[in-house]
Amino acid sequence: MLGEGARTAADADNYFKAYADAIAAVGKFQAAGKFPRPSGISVKLSALHARYEMAQRERVMKEMVPRLVALCEQAARHDIPLTIDAEEADRLQLSLEVATALLDTASIDGWNGLGFAVQAYQKRAPVVIDFITELARAKNRRLMVRLVKGAYWDTEIKRAQERGWDDFPVFTRKAGTDVSYLACVKRMLGASEWIDPVFGTHNAMTAAHILELTREPGRIEFQRLHGMGEELHQLIRKEGFGTGVYAPVGNHEVLLSYLVRRILENGANSSFVHRLYDRSIPIEELTADPVAEMEAYAQKSHPLIRRAPQLYEPQRKNSQGLDLADPFVTGPLLNEIEEFAKLPAAYVPAASAADLKDMFGAAQRNFTSWTRVPVDIRAKYLERLADLIEKHRSELMSLLIHEAKRSIPDALSEVREAADNCRYYAMRAREDFRIYDLPGPTGERNQIRLVGRGVFACISPWNFPLAIFLGQVAAALVAGNTVIAKPAPQTPLIAWRVKQLIYEAGIPGDAFHLAPGGPEVGQQLIELPGLAGVVFTGSFATARKINLTLAQKDGPIIPFIAETGGQNALIVDSSALPEQVVDDVVLGSFRSAGQRCSALRVLYLPEATADKILTMLIGAMLELRIGDPAKLENDVGPVIDKAAQEKLLLHVERLQSEAKQICAVPLARECDSGTFVAPQAWEIPAIGWLEGEVFGPILHVIRYHPGILNRVIDEINATGFGLTGGAHSRIESTVRHIERDLAVGNFYVNRSLIGAVVGVQPFGGEGLSGTGPKAGGPHYLPRFATERVTSENLTAAGGNASLLIAASK
Ligand code: FAD
Ligand code: NAD
Repeated sequence: MLGEGARTAADADNYFKAYADAIAAVGKFQAAGKFPRPSGISVKLSALHARYEMAQRERVMKEMVPRLVALCEQAARHDIPLTIDAEEADRLQLSLEVATALLDTASIDGWNGLGFAVQAYQKRAPVVIDFITELARAKNRRLMVRLVKGAYWDTEIKRAQERGWDDFPVFTRKAGTDVSYLACVKRMLGASEWIDPVFGTHNAMTAAHILELTREPGRIEFQRLHGMGEELHQLIRKEGFGTGVYAPVGNHEVLLSYLVRRILENGANSSFVHRLYDRSIPIEELTADPVAEMEAYAQKSHPLIRRAPQLYEPQRKNSQGLDLADPFVTGPLLNEIEEFAKLPAAYVPAASAADLKDMFGAAQRNFTSWTRVPVDIRAKYLERLADLIEKHRSELMSLLIHEAKRSIPDALSEVREAADNCRYYAMRAREDFRIYDLPGPTGERNQIRLVGRGVFACISPWNFPLAIFLGQVAAALVAGNTVIAKPAPQTPLIAWRVKQLIYEAGIPGDAFHLAPGGPEVGQQLIELPGLAGVVFTGSFATARKINLTLAQKDGPIIPFIAETGGQNALIVDSSALPEQVVDDVVLGSFRSAGQRCSALRVLYLPEATADKILTMLIGAMLELRIGDPAKLENDVGPVIDKAAQEKLLLHVERLQSEAKQICAVPLARECDSGTFVAPQAWEIPAIGWLEGEVFGPILHVIRYHPGILNRVIDEINATGFGLTGGAHSRIESTVRHIERDLAVGNFYVNRSLIGAVVGVQPFGGEGLSGTGPKAGGPHYLPRFATERVTSENLTAAGGNASLLIAASK
């Protein structure tokens, strides 16, 4: 059944019905003898549940398995086989649990028609076959296994890199997959008592190998995709094997993306079908033995496909991620997080005016000694700090979850961002703080270099209390400044713990000072005479206040680096894929309860497809789970505090009287006790109707006619903010048009607006959104430093020695 997988409960209902209808139709045709051979059905589990993912395991077992059982019962009645397709690697574990549950179901006990697809490109494939064999043996029934190589290879590679996993779940050499396939074939043939083998391949060499290994062709079936491998199957049939066709079913809308996928797969250089039709490839190469090929490689993994840890080498180490779909990872992680939460919280007193004065005195006195520490050593401190951050990952995640109300995936990505910040600025500092020679007349040496400025004030918000707090501090320190950092009053514990790690990394205590407290402490900090610079992240209103204060101070005019809010808009056109739009909108607007500066605030939908997208969006929103962020199954936690909640609810009141509600996710009883705000979407007349940034899980939607695209862009620009923005379109010229005209710091195409990665998507806005330079980008550190140039007359000692020597050669 073609399609993108269910995003909503209604999608899942429709797919369920479509599968049930298909089983009935196939059963009827079969009974009437209209098929030349017995036929069955393949089911994608992601179509039967909108949240078919490990984090929603309980729901899947409770809600999806009964549906699957119903389909199996129906298939059993019609006596047709049902095979469960294999999908993404992070769903494998869950699918095996589903398989186990199915085999425990009495109503389909005597039925031998159940089958599972196994992907040979996954490194776990042979073990999966063993598992299925064991399952069949334990339940005393035969199971069908359809061995395929796997259709999501590129997705798996990208995901593993993005998520920072140590290794890939799939092989990176094509021959590796081919060898794995053969190993699985052997295992399947060896388990003939329990397994009915089916081989899905269009590769004649793979098929030939199977032919060689087989003693009983009559027991084995080959299958191919409709439209491919017909000649191969003709030959195979002559050898006495059964053959079958896997035929996609669906309407023209979903067919297109399936066909594009096929073209990509068959067009790949590594594809057998592609090579078969390439006359320049000799037959010997086409029929090369994959085992010999793998043996010949000194390096078994593909050298051009970097594992996540090596992604940025040799410049820097990447931060480490975790597979949150792996219960062997999440089990211990959740335990540790809980254990840390039980520890008594430290009391972090606010800094007094006297404290600030003392801190400033110490920071000022120690500036010279710190700034003279060679940049390479300063960079090493940061690298050590990054390692410490990762070493204490569970503890920091625990603090992030309990103090800042971050969800588990958010907490993990924030720890990664903090470590990345340290390593990236260490790397940049070594580059930026070198002495550079400048061209000039002979007999003279001209050099430029960067040096620290003095005491820097770092003021950060609560919404990234680790990554932004530490990012500012790391940059200021490595640039040779001493630092007084003021965290947000909502998140002092995280800051306190990071302070200890900063010292543990070896950074001298007098180079870094923590000044906890609220706005008053911040105000006193920036008023300190002699401050050399201020770096700030927070709201525009605060940035403005700080700017005014600094302007009125005596003494030198100092740098002020400000990163502020946004009015982030996404423009969708009618060519965009609705499922992709909905995925990215849900992620961009509601992840972190919308409390990211980059979050999507205003969604522009084209009149032609708005209703369709909104229907799907409502369904997807209703699938969100809201609750305690310490639980893996919850997608959205509370907002930071009562004040934030009240401010958001006030905005909702205005929406109620002036806008049209699209959806508000009902909150469960458990949310009554926390500062929860329901994820919600409202249709508003224009972006200008908003009075400022709405910092929470509230999405605003505006319909537009494609004819006024320029006006839409002008309206967004007219807000004055310029942080993130995006386009969802499959028309290249539309994307380039919006990219050119939309004045935003970070522009995202066909993806969500959140999740900028250090060094990969340097982050920061323009206009009301910030002064620049971008955090995590190549121009950040120089802003924390001052430039000095030395010009030296080399002839002063009596003559231009180097010129005379050069000329004499
Ligand atoms: P080949 O050209 O020999 O192999 C191509 C395959 O090799 C790629 O698809 C990829 O898997 C692998 N590969 C390519 N490059 C590399 C590399 N650098 N490193 C490692 N591996 C590489 N797919 C699913 O995922 N789930 C299913 O449930 C499923 N059901 C199917 C059912 C049938 C009946 C058939 C015929 C196919 C099914 N497929 C399924 C699709 C299947 O995965 C692909 O058609 C198959 O991978 C193509 O392999 P091949 O042996 O025909 O061709
Ligand atoms: P906020 O402006 O209220 O506070 C930010 C920090 O400034 C806090 O530490 C606060 O105590 C301090 N502060 C307040 N008044 C001060 C003063 N007069 N002098 C000195 N310091 C003062 O912001 P917030 O509510 O903590 O954070 C949310 C805001 O941050 C949102 O607007 C969001 O968009 C923005 N933000 C921007 C980025 C970015 O990179 N552009 C990143 C994260 C958050």
